[in-house]
Amino acid sequence: MQYSEIMVRYGELSTKGKNRKNFIDRLGYNVRQALHEFPNLKIAAHRDRMHIQLNGEDSEKVMARLGQVFGIQNFSPSVKVERDVKKVQAMAIEMMKEKYHPGLTFKINTRRSDHKFKYDTNAMNDLLGGTILQAFDDIHVKMKDPDVTLRCEVRPDGIFLSYGKINGAGGLPVGTAGKAMLMLSGGIDSPVAGYLAMKRGVAIEMVHFFSPPYTSEQALNKAKQLTAKLAPYVGTIKFIQVPFTEIQEKIKHEVPEGYLMTIQRRFMLRLAEKIAKKRKGLAIFNGEALGQVASQTLESMAAINDVTTMPVLRPVLSMDKNEIIEIAQKIDTFDLSIQPFEDCCTVFAPPAPKTKPRIDRARQYEERLDVDGLIQRALDGIQITEINSSDEFMNANQESFAELL
Ligand code: ATP
Ligand code: MG
Repeated sequence: MQYSEIMVRYGELSTKGKNRKNFIDRLGYNVRQALHEFPNLKIAAHRDRMHIQLNGEDSEKVMARLGQVFGIQNFSPSVKVERDVKKVQAMAIEMMKEKYHPGLTFKINTRRSDHKFKYDTNAMNDLLGGTILQAFDDIHVKMKDPDVTLRCEVRPDGIFLSYGKINGAGGLPVGTAGKAMLMLSGGIDSPVAGYLAMKRGVAIEMVHFFSPPYTSEQALNKAKQLTAKLAPYVGTIKFIQVPFTEIQEKIKHEVPEGYLMTIQRRFMLRLAEKIAKKRKGLAIFNGEALGQVASQTLESMAAINDVTTMPVLRPVLSMDKNEIIEIAQKIDTFDLSIQPFEDCCTVFAPPAPKTKPRIDRARQYEERLDVDGLIQRALDGIQITEINSSDEFMNANQESFAELL
């Protein structure tokens, strides 16, 4: 079927009263970003619906992208017909042919946004329903749960027919819930946490700690590639890489082994907070899940969280690992996450971290360190890149390896 437009129904934003305009503007912006590769589209975000005129662009490809934009409940590809009942009837038959099998049930659902049109909704339902009953041998009208609902929308510029309703990504438009930093490692959990934050409308920027030469360029690239995997939900995402080598070396030198991890995490959180404040972020997201590893007991979270009053939000906190993996697979980060490039935590992980670290001890050990100086030097070494979904980091590197061989 050659579709002429995609009609988009908004999600929860319809309940947001006064903020509605902001939501719609933001959703319109996000949709334009997500579909920027299709230059012929014409996108109009109205109060109740959004219309995307295809102008010859491939509807399947456009819909695949659209399905990733948060704030959309569902959408329907539709065919535009002149405001001429004969032509509408002919197109309705054409469309039903694609679905028809003996015994098929259907109903017509007309909606008029142009009340000047000479037929009202009931009359249109009857006209189209009658035509279809005549055109096919074994077809029946069924008002409740029919196999096919053929929707007919009468608008000033034409009549639009559609029968599919494709589920959107749900959630809220990214950017309507403010901005936050996501602590992104190369693991399974933090990309999922980022996805869930965006789903509730939060715009995220990635903060990634890396420790050359202990961690490889590949580990850094993996984190960037994970960022590219999450970019389609928003267009582009800022990736902030923070050098962590000096901090880890100093900690390793000065702090008893059982507290290495706690103190490292306290530094990560301090840095994430500083970066957030500088960039007008309101919170920090991470991928901690309760009980998963030593650093993720409540005692440990309390000892780490001690360094900040900024909200630290943990979207996967109460999920089982297999539930997290299920989402990671759905958003296609899993295969990348399980690639074995060591990140800074693995390299400096103590053999037996304390599962119940004490806040007073953690503070006391830190007195041995020049906390402010270490933080400042890490901040001075930050690099920020803007990543979009088509960026390739892993392959680029493999190619340069090949050249060296
Ligand atoms: P993940 O799968 O997200 O790596 P994990 O189960 O491996 O999580 P940890 O390694 O203990 O858990 O890390 C807990 C959280 O701390 C991560 O989810 C992430 O938010 C943050 N984190 C860990 N390492 C880094 C890093 N190198 N850069 C930024 N954040 C990190
Ligand atoms: Mg990890």
